[in-house]
Amino acid sequence: MGTSADKAGPPIGVMGGTFDPIHFGHLRLAEEMADAIGLERVRFIPAGRPPHRLAPHTPAAHRLEMVRRALAGNPRFEADAREVNSPRPSYTVDTLTALRAERGNAQPLWLLLGADAFLELPTWHQWRQLFGLANIAVAARPGARLLQPDAMPAPLNGEVSKRLVADGSAAGPAGSVLLRATTPLDISATAIRNLLARHGSARYLLPDAVLGYIHEHHLYTQP
Ligand code: ATP
Ligand code: MG
Repeated sequence: MGTSADKAGPPIGVMGGTFDPIHFGHLRLAEEMADAIGLERVRFIPAGRPPHRLAPHTPAAHRLEMVRRALAGNPRFEADAREVNSPRPSYTVDTLTALRAERGNAQPLWLLLGADAFLELPTWHQWRQLFGLANIAVAARPGARLLQPDAMPAPLNGEVSKRLVADGSAAGPAGSVLLRATTPLDISATAIRNLLARHGSARYLLPDAVLGYIHEHHLYTQP
């Protein structure tokens, strides 16, 4: 367990999502943020029972295995099964509280989000507490509203405007927000599921290893 007398470790990224399936939009966001902020590791944490949305199409064990296959070969990335293994709904505030307890109070944690997820933040359970637990890095996402502070809902802007930093090195263990344009990739898991349901090709939208797993297990196609 973490000691709280806390020697600061290197910054760690946390990439949450349903990953139904994981695709290059997720992977590229994490890779670019890792470079930009100097993250030593990025933990990909598939949601078990996401509280905010309809139940995922695909059982958690498959979503976790697709994440594992997608991350294989990238020493900076690791899959974290804690939400998948939890019987309780996946609240990011609980996951970050647990990571914070393991890592101590001095290590910078960075929650990585696409702009669409970030703009929904005020609907998340105990969302204001997130700023006490981690920094947040937000990537522009094609189709999501602009990342200008005045495009944010007022409560979000109220929290965020005082926390903005121009680069990750200015941040402490938690409480800063970095808005950053990453390579725009207009890829979504929804579009991939729809393509596969029509027996279209999803190649080059996600890693071949993930696509192979999808075909092996007949995910996203009607039997
Ligand atoms: P779905 O279509 O099922 O909602 P998704 O592609 O949006 O899937 P999620 O698992 O919902 O993927 O997203 C996890 C995180 O990744 C969110 O923070 C989301 O904003 C971000 N994200 C997903 N796709 C992209 C993308 N193409 N570019 C930037 N960020 C992305
Ligand atoms: Mg989504």
